[in-house]
Amino acid sequence: MARTPEELLRLRQQYVLQCVKNYYERPMNLVKGAMQYLTDSTGKEYLDFFAGILSVNSGHSNPEINAAVHAQVDKLQHVSTVYLIEPMLEMAEELAKVTPGALQKSFFCNSGTEAIDTALLTAKMFTKSDEVIALRHSYHGRSHVAIGATGQSTWRLPVSTMGNVHFTASGYCYRCPFNLTYPSCDVQCARDLEGVLQSSTSGRIAAFIAEPIQGVGGFVTPPPEFFPIVFEIVKRYGGVTIADEVQGGWGRTGTHMFSIQHWGVEPDMMVFAKGMANGYAIGAFIARPEIADAYTGPNISTFGGNPITMVAAMANLNYIREHDLIGNAERMGRILFDGLAELTAKHPLIGEVRGKGLMCGVELVRDRSTKEPAPAETIRVMELCKDDGVLVGRGGYFNNVLRLTPPLVVNADDVRRALRTLDSALTAVEKTMVFA
Ligand code: PMP
Repeated sequence: MARTPEELLRLRQQYVLQCVKNYYERPMNLVKGAMQYLTDSTGKEYLDFFAGILSVNSGHSNPEINAAVHAQVDKLQHVSTVYLIEPMLEMAEELAKVTPGALQKSFFCNSGTEAIDTALLTAKMFTKSDEVIALRHSYHGRSHVAIGATGQSTWRLPVSTMGNVHFTASGYCYRCPFNLTYPSCDVQCARDLEGVLQSSTSGRIAAFIAEPIQGVGGFVTPPPEFFPIVFEIVKRYGGVTIADEVQGGWGRTGTHMFSIQHWGVEPDMMVFAKGMANGYAIGAFIARPEIADAYTGPNISTFGGNPITMVAAMANLNYIREHDLIGNAERMGRILFDGLAELTAKHPLIGEVRGKGLMCGVELVRDRSTKEPAPAETIRVMELCKDDGVLVGRGGYFNNVLRLTPPLVVNADDVRRALRTLDSALTAVEKTMVFA
């Protein structure tokens, strides 16, 4: 018999760091997953529109991926990279083929955070510079280094994290830091980078790192000119461009395998985690060979590139391609965005809908004219959606953005069901509000 949520909350409180929190006033104990569906210990079924934070792109306990993993578990589990690991080397070869441009050499580890750390260290060693540029509202992970590159004030701690990071404007048109309007703004957010570089750095930077669509930041999606302009400036100042594809990679945004490809630019490095192995713990980055070869730091990640995770990553990639999950993300994304356009006309709580494919953010505001964020209402909408059997995520600088990111295997009925649930939840919450 599974334990009750109350028992689990007691264990959490007593034995786990207090920073580990859960969604929901009344959390559930999820005990089973099957593709886009989850079941809790009472037998209640949920349609998952968060995918374990954009990780389970090919679905929960996907039978094809799990068959490959089961076979590998029984064959060889772990030896470490002091030996040749066939599944890792095959995955590295495949990664060079599936990523754009001259990206060629990879490093494998166990989480996005680790991959970010090592990618930044590699860029620093290549350029022999210490200075890093990141975007406001970014999120790159949990370690001393990754926190330093994270542009969220809640992550500024009373102890030191990686220094020498300068933050430039993200392409957050809905809340433009320059109070301008696209396209007459001439993409000032991107052009401002030059001023940051001239005023705040030595002029020789190591790297520019960005999530093409900001995940934790609430799916901030810059205009088409943003990355072409920024990458050109970064190149002129000698920096390495790093695309953090931890949330946006592996077909999530439709049309392309990786989210940066929507902007038609080729980064010098790409970082992966989450959706790369469909829920198995993984982190990796790939770089142009001359950049990768500059790394002479510690070479061991004990479990990095282990056979089980690598087989999972390869089976996941094959599944994405064979089942056209990129095409499905695009098609289902269109239904989702069309449906949300209708909900926007009906619900004053919706300030903006943004994103690409099945990486869809809905920013909720108390007042459309002042754009006052609605974080408490966002929590209530999420709770009501959960009670109605649909799980959605939350994010945003003001914690007021619903993140709708189902496994990429969802069908049109699933999307319509999520839209109906969201419609009802918004209606219920709006009834308790007074709009100007
Ligand atoms: N980069 C991005 C864009 C992320 O969203 C995250 C995790 N939310 C990370 C890096 C860190 O990944 P991990 O939690 O696997 O360390």
